[in-house]
Amino acid sequence: MARRIPRRSPEQLRLMRAAGRVVAEMHDVIRNAADVGVSTAQLDRLARDVLSRRGATSNFLGYHGFPAVICSSVNDQVIHGIPGDYVLEDGDVLSVDCGAIISGWHGDAAFTMGIGEITGEAQRLIDVADRALLAGIAAMVPGGAVGDIGAAVNAVVKPAGYGSPEDYCGHGIGKAMHEAPDVANRGRRGRGAALEVGVVLAIEPMLLGGGRDEVDELDDGWTIVTRDHSLAAHVEHTVLVTDHGPEILTRL
Ligand code: MG
Ligand code: MG
Repeated sequence: MARRIPRRSPEQLRLMRAAGRVVAEMHDVIRNAADVGVSTAQLDRLARDVLSRRGATSNFLGYHGFPAVICSSVNDQVIHGIPGDYVLEDGDVLSVDCGAIISGWHGDAAFTMGIGEITGEAQRLIDVADRALLAGIAAMVPGGAVGDIGAAVNAVVKPAGYGSPEDYCGHGIGKAMHEAPDVANRGRRGRGAALEVGVVLAIEPMLLGGGRDEVDELDDGWTIVTRDHSLAAHVEHTVLVTDHGPEILTRL
Protein backbone atom coordinates (compact mmCIF):
# COMPACT_ATOMS: atom_id res chain seq x y z
CA MET A 1 0.00 0.00 0.00
CA ALA A 2 1.20 3.48 -0.83
CA ARG A 3 2.28 5.54 2.16
CA ARG A 4 -0.26 8.00 3.45
CA ILE A 5 0.39 11.66 2.56
CA PRO A 6 0.35 14.03 5.58
CA ARG A 7 -2.78 16.17 5.93
CA ARG A 8 -2.08 19.78 6.80
CA SER A 9 -3.68 21.48 9.79
CA PRO A 10 -5.54 24.80 9.45
CA GLU A 11 -2.57 26.64 10.96
CA GLN A 12 -0.13 24.93 8.58
CA LEU A 13 -2.41 25.76 5.67
CA ARG A 14 -2.55 29.40 6.75
CA LEU A 15 1.23 29.55 6.37
CA MET A 16 1.25 27.58 3.10
CA ARG A 17 -1.35 29.98 1.68
CA ALA A 18 0.85 32.90 2.74
CA ALA A 19 3.89 31.30 1.06
CA GLY A 20 1.79 30.56 -2.02
CA ARG A 21 0.65 34.18 -2.28
CA VAL A 22 4.27 35.33 -2.25
CA VAL A 23 5.04 32.92 -5.12
CA ALA A 24 2.02 34.23 -7.03
CA GLU A 25 3.23 37.79 -6.52
CA MET A 26 6.70 36.83 -7.81
CA HIS A 27 5.00 35.38 -10.90
CA ASP A 28 2.97 38.56 -11.39
CA VAL A 29 6.00 40.83 -11.16
CA ILE A 30 8.03 38.64 -13.52
CA ARG A 31 5.20 38.30 -16.06
CA ASN A 32 4.87 42.07 -16.19
CA ALA A 33 8.61 42.65 -16.53
CA ALA A 34 9.61 39.85 -18.92
CA ASP A 35 10.00 41.44 -22.36
CA VAL A 36 12.37 41.81 -25.28
CA GLY A 37 15.66 43.26 -23.99
CA VAL A 38 15.26 42.16 -20.36
CA SER A 39 17.83 39.74 -18.94
CA THR A 40 16.91 36.71 -16.90
CA ALA A 41 19.17 38.04 -14.10
CA GLN A 42 16.93 41.13 -13.95
CA LEU A 43 13.90 38.88 -13.46
CA ASP A 44 15.70 37.09 -10.64
CA ARG A 45 16.41 40.43 -8.96
CA LEU A 46 12.73 41.40 -9.14
CA ALA A 47 11.78 38.08 -7.55
CA ARG A 48 14.29 38.66 -4.74
CA ASP A 49 12.69 42.06 -4.11
CA VAL A 50 9.27 40.44 -3.65
CA LEU A 51 10.68 37.88 -1.21
CA SER A 52 12.33 40.53 0.96
CA ARG A 53 9.30 42.83 0.79
CA ARG A 54 7.09 40.00 2.06
CA GLY A 55 9.49 38.71 4.71
CA ALA A 56 9.82 35.41 2.88
CA THR A 57 12.90 33.38 2.05
CA SER A 58 13.77 31.39 -1.05
CA ASN A 59 13.64 27.61 -1.26
CA PHE A 60 15.55 27.76 -4.58
CA LEU A 61 18.58 29.82 -3.56
CA GLY A 62 21.25 27.42 -2.25
CA TYR A 63 19.18 24.32 -3.05
CA HIS A 64 21.99 21.82 -3.83
CA GLY A 65 23.97 25.00 -4.51
CA PHE A 66 21.50 26.62 -6.94
CA PRO A 67 22.60 30.28 -7.31
CA ALA A 68 19.26 32.12 -7.82
CA VAL A 69 15.70 32.46 -6.49
CA ILE A 70 14.10 31.61 -9.86
CA CYS A 71 14.76 29.07 -12.56
CA SER A 72 14.46 30.71 -15.99
CA SER A 73 14.33 28.24 -18.85
CA VAL A 74 14.20 29.60 -22.41
CA ASN A 75 13.09 27.80 -25.61
CA ASP A 76 14.60 24.29 -25.63
CA GLN A 77 15.36 24.57 -21.91
CA VAL A 78 12.74 22.60 -19.99
CA ILE A 79 13.54 23.27 -16.32
CA HIS A 80 16.31 24.42 -13.96
CA GLY A 81 17.73 27.16 -16.21
CA ILE A 82 19.99 29.55 -14.31
CA PRO A 83 19.22 33.29 -14.58
CA GLY A 84 22.13 35.30 -15.97
CA ASP A 85 23.24 37.53 -18.82
CA TYR A 86 20.80 36.05 -21.34
CA VAL A 87 18.66 38.84 -22.80
CA LEU A 88 15.15 37.83 -23.86
CA GLU A 89 14.42 38.04 -27.59
CA ASP A 90 11.26 38.43 -29.63
CA GLY A 91 9.68 35.00 -30.07
CA ASP A 92 11.28 33.36 -27.02
CA VAL A 93 9.34 30.90 -24.88
CA LEU A 94 10.19 31.56 -21.22
CA SER A 95 9.44 29.24 -18.31
CA VAL A 96 9.89 30.61 -14.80
CA ASP A 97 9.80 28.42 -11.70
CA CYS A 98 10.16 29.84 -8.20
CA GLY A 99 9.16 29.32 -4.60
CA ALA A 100 8.94 30.93 -1.19
CA ILE A 101 9.11 29.95 2.46
CA ILE A 102 7.01 31.60 5.19
CA SER A 103 7.65 30.47 8.78
CA GLY A 104 9.11 27.20 7.49
CA TRP A 105 6.26 26.38 5.07
CA HIS A 106 6.78 26.19 1.34
CA GLY A 107 5.12 27.23 -1.91
CA ASP A 108 6.32 26.29 -5.42
CA ALA A 109 4.92 27.23 -8.84
CA ALA A 110 5.93 27.80 -12.46
CA PHE A 111 4.51 29.36 -15.61
CA THR A 112 5.44 29.58 -19.28
CA MET A 113 4.92 32.69 -21.42
CA GLY A 114 5.82 34.02 -24.83
CA ILE A 115 8.11 37.02 -25.26
CA GLY A 116 7.00 39.53 -27.89
CA GLU A 117 5.44 37.81 -30.87
CA ILE A 118 5.65 34.03 -30.74
CA THR A 119 4.79 31.44 -33.37
CA GLY A 120 1.42 29.70 -33.43
CA GLU A 121 3.27 26.50 -32.66
CA ALA A 122 4.78 28.03 -29.50
CA GLN A 123 1.41 29.43 -28.40
CA ARG A 124 -0.21 26.02 -28.82
CA LEU A 125 2.49 24.42 -26.67
CA ILE A 126 1.87 26.96 -23.90
CA ASP A 127 -1.92 26.57 -24.15
CA VAL A 128 -1.73 22.79 -23.93
CA ALA A 129 0.64 23.05 -20.94
CA ASP A 130 -1.86 25.27 -19.13
CA ARG A 131 -4.66 22.85 -19.97
CA ALA A 132 -2.59 19.89 -18.73
CA LEU A 133 -1.99 21.68 -15.42
CA LEU A 134 -5.70 22.42 -15.02
CA ALA A 135 -6.51 18.77 -15.76
CA GLY A 136 -4.03 17.64 -13.11
CA ILE A 137 -5.45 20.13 -10.60
CA ALA A 138 -9.00 18.92 -11.31
CA ALA A 139 -7.93 15.43 -10.22
CA MET A 140 -7.05 16.75 -6.72
CA VAL A 141 -10.28 15.61 -5.08
CA PRO A 142 -10.98 13.45 -2.03
CA GLY A 143 -11.43 9.80 -2.95
CA GLY A 144 -8.90 10.08 -5.75
CA ALA A 145 -5.33 8.81 -5.87
CA VAL A 146 -2.01 10.33 -6.87
CA GLY A 147 -2.01 8.26 -10.08
CA ASP A 148 -5.15 10.11 -11.20
CA ILE A 149 -3.13 13.32 -11.51
CA GLY A 150 -0.54 11.91 -13.91
CA ALA A 151 -3.23 10.12 -15.87
CA ALA A 152 -5.14 13.40 -16.27
CA VAL A 153 -2.02 15.35 -17.28
CA ASN A 154 -0.90 12.69 -19.75
CA ALA A 155 -4.38 12.51 -21.30
CA VAL A 156 -3.92 16.14 -22.37
CA VAL A 157 -0.21 16.08 -23.26
CA LYS A 158 0.12 12.90 -25.34
CA PRO A 159 -2.90 13.29 -27.66
CA ALA A 160 -1.64 16.82 -28.42
CA GLY A 161 1.56 15.23 -29.73
CA TYR A 162 3.95 16.42 -27.03
CA GLY A 163 6.62 14.57 -25.08
CA SER A 164 7.14 14.56 -21.32
CA PRO A 165 10.43 13.73 -19.52
CA GLU A 166 10.07 10.63 -17.38
CA ASP A 167 12.64 11.50 -14.72
CA TYR A 168 11.11 14.80 -13.54
CA CYS A 169 7.82 15.21 -11.79
CA GLY A 170 5.72 16.96 -9.18
CA HIS A 171 5.95 16.25 -5.46
CA GLY A 172 4.60 16.55 -1.98
CA ILE A 173 5.35 19.91 -0.36
CA GLY A 174 5.17 21.30 3.16
CA LYS A 175 8.04 21.77 5.61
CA ALA A 176 10.34 21.05 2.66
CA MET A 177 9.93 21.97 -0.99
CA HIS A 178 10.26 18.37 -2.12
CA GLU A 179 8.50 15.75 -0.02
CA ALA A 180 7.01 12.34 -0.76
CA PRO A 181 5.22 11.31 -2.86
CA ASP A 182 6.48 11.85 -6.40
CA VAL A 183 3.65 13.12 -8.61
CA ALA A 184 4.48 11.75 -12.05
CA ASN A 185 3.15 13.36 -15.21
CA ARG A 186 1.92 10.00 -16.38
CA GLY A 187 0.13 7.55 -14.18
CA ARG A 188 -2.66 5.11 -13.79
CA ARG A 189 -5.96 6.05 -12.30
CA GLY A 190 -6.49 4.68 -8.81
CA ARG A 191 -2.78 3.97 -8.26
CA GLY A 192 -0.66 5.48 -5.50
CA ALA A 193 -1.47 7.21 -2.24
CA ALA A 194 -4.98 8.44 -1.50
CA LEU A 195 -5.93 12.08 -1.98
CA GLU A 196 -7.52 13.12 1.31
CA VAL A 197 -8.75 16.51 2.48
CA GLY A 198 -5.71 18.46 3.69
CA VAL A 199 -3.22 16.90 1.26
CA VAL A 200 -1.03 19.41 -0.59
CA LEU A 201 0.91 18.51 -3.74
CA ALA A 202 2.92 20.41 -6.34
CA ILE A 203 1.69 19.43 -9.81
CA GLU A 204 4.04 20.29 -12.65
CA PRO A 205 3.53 19.19 -16.25
CA MET A 206 6.58 19.53 -18.52
CA LEU A 207 5.90 19.46 -22.24
CA LEU A 208 8.46 18.76 -24.96
CA GLY A 209 7.40 20.26 -28.28
CA GLY A 210 9.08 17.66 -30.52
CA GLY A 211 6.93 14.84 -29.17
CA ARG A 212 9.85 12.83 -27.83
CA ASP A 213 10.46 12.25 -24.11
CA GLU A 214 14.27 12.55 -24.06
CA VAL A 215 16.09 15.39 -22.32
CA ASP A 216 19.73 16.20 -21.58
CA GLU A 217 21.49 18.13 -18.83
CA LEU A 218 23.81 20.97 -19.88
CA ASP A 219 27.39 21.26 -18.62
CA ASP A 220 26.30 23.83 -16.01
CA GLY A 221 25.00 20.82 -14.06
CA TRP A 222 21.48 22.26 -13.89
CA THR A 223 19.75 23.17 -17.12
CA ILE A 224 17.61 20.41 -18.65
CA VAL A 225 17.05 20.75 -22.41
CA THR A 226 15.04 18.82 -24.98
CA ARG A 227 17.35 16.37 -26.77
CA ASP A 228 15.88 17.37 -30.16
CA HIS A 229 16.09 21.09 -29.21
CA SER A 230 12.38 21.55 -29.71
CA LEU A 231 10.59 24.13 -27.53
CA ALA A 232 9.54 23.17 -24.01
CA ALA A 233 6.98 24.40 -21.48
CA HIS A 234 6.79 23.94 -17.70
CA VAL A 235 3.86 24.96 -15.52
CA GLU A 236 3.18 24.26 -11.86
CA HIS A 237 0.90 25.02 -8.94
CA THR A 238 0.87 24.02 -5.29
CA VAL A 239 -2.61 22.60 -4.72
CA LEU A 240 -4.69 21.61 -1.65
CA VAL A 241 -7.38 18.94 -1.60
CA THR A 242 -10.53 20.28 0.08
CA ASP A 243 -14.04 18.86 0.40
CA HIS A 244 -15.27 21.59 -1.95
CA GLY A 245 -12.75 21.08 -4.75
CA PRO A 246 -9.06 21.75 -5.36
CA GLU A 247 -7.63 24.96 -3.92
CA ILE A 248 -4.65 26.48 -5.74
CA LEU A 249 -2.39 27.92 -3.03
CA THR A 250 0.03 29.64 -5.43
CA ARG A 251 -2.50 32.11 -6.76
CA LEU A 252 -3.47 35.62 -5.68
MG1 MG B 1 8.06 21.74 -7.88
MG1 MG C 1 8.80 24.52 -9.07
